[in-house]
Amino acid sequence: MLNLSEKHSMIQKIAEKLAKEKVAPRAKEIDKTGAFPWDLVDIYKKHGFLYLMLPEKFGGLDGDITSLCLVIEELAKISGASSLIPLAHNVGIMPIMVSANDEQKEYLYSKIADPERPYLVAFALTEPEAGSDASHMRTTATRDGEYYYLNGKKSMITNGANAQLYSVFANTNPKLRTNGISAFFVERDYPGVIIGKSEDKMGMIGSDITEIVFDNVRLSKDNLLGKEGEGWNIAMSTLNLSRPAVGAQAVGLAQGALDFSTEYAWKRVQFGQKLADFEGIQFMVADMATHVEAARALVYDAAHLLDMKVYERDKMSAIGVDKLSAMAKVYSADVAMKVTTDAVQILGGYGYTKEYPVERMMRDAKATQIYEGTNQIQRIVIARDIFRHFMP
Ligand SMILES: Cc1cc2nc3c(=O)[nH]c(=O)nc-3n(C[C@H](O)[C@H](O)[C@H](O)COP(=O)(O)OP(=O)(O)OC[C@H]3O[C@@H](n4cnc5c(N)ncnc54)[C@H](O)[C@@H]3O)c2cc1C
Repeated sequence: MLNLSEKHSMIQKIAEKLAKEKVAPRAKEIDKTGAFPWDLVDIYKKHGFLYLMLPEKFGGLDGDITSLCLVIEELAKISGASSLIPLAHNVGIMPIMVSANDEQKEYLYSKIADPERPYLVAFALTEPEAGSDASHMRTTATRDGEYYYLNGKKSMITNGANAQLYSVFANTNPKLRTNGISAFFVERDYPGVIIGKSEDKMGMIGSDITEIVFDNVRLSKDNLLGKEGEGWNIAMSTLNLSRPAVGAQAVGLAQGALDFSTEYAWKRVQFGQKLADFEGIQFMVADMATHVEAARALVYDAAHLLDMKVYERDKMSAIGVDKLSAMAKVYSADVAMKVTTDAVQILGGYGYTKEYPVERMMRDAKATQIYEGTNQIQRIVIARDIFRHFMP
């Protein structure tokens, strides 16, 4: 149970209503056809979900990470893919939020918050040869006079095929390793931005993960976010901010599966009694509900800490929010995988069919253990933070 402020409570209610009224009737079909739900993007825009965290002076809702988590959790209870589109969009905005100067913010936020057109953003870090080990990226931005020339390929980028704006990380000085990585904003209509292949995924169907190829894309210094060489810290700060929202997505998926399977257990009769009357089922449901509540507490604890709006990576580390963010993500994702799998089990053979939503939720849950840093990488982040304190 969350003790929410009036504003947070209102945001949650709007998201819940919208998820039930607009997303629920579309969820099964989106998963079946895989067609990108532009109608929902339009609705999200109208309700402010695509400019939730932007300051009011730029037309935003002045929301925070807690607001984002609440929206994503409510949408994910109904449809993972429909929650991933606004989640990835907001993650794409985060590098701008933490590092853009006022002119860049004014230019980009006015496009993002423009009510007339759906304008999606994507976060482009992963490459075919650099996933968990993102610091070994091969994409380069080579400086020549006033310009940088961007070359390389990003892969598995959510919203990649549908975004108009990308937050991109590239090497400006490969010899300096992480200190040679810089962040840029790149607009889709720049010459040399090529949309590559979209992957055929297990779950989160309806959202896209797509390759983006940069073929000598000319960028000016105005495209640089922060200073040259600050890109790695910007990427890591972004991940600290976004991981609780992935945790919230996982909590939403788990809660959705729990709600569906308990209602089913209440109605389904075997051996002359409800499934809900079997102790084996009761214990399973009790564990599922307990794990979901614990995951939710961790997510909103991390979000609350992030709402102090400390965005510098070293300061985040000093207050321990990097560890807490990683814990929120890893725990919630593991809970989502376990709870959605148990929900399929409670429905038995019917749980394994596409007639019911729990198999979709189980497929969607798997993704939360992989993106925003796999759960192995989260454990590395947590363990590093623990042992850091023993270092001389
Ligand atoms: C649905 C989806 C959406 C995505 N969206 C985006 C996006 O919007 N933007 C973006 O930039 N990327 C995105 N990604 C990419 C995602 O972040 C990467 O898939 C992820 O970081 C893992 O990289 P990889 O796939 O190359 O796996 P690898 O790095 O090759 O890892 C393979 C396995 O080895 C394990 N492993 C690797 N290193 C270690 C280690 N040191 N110790 C222990 N185990 C290790 C991993 O945990 C994993 O289990 C998305 C991926 C998916 C599936």
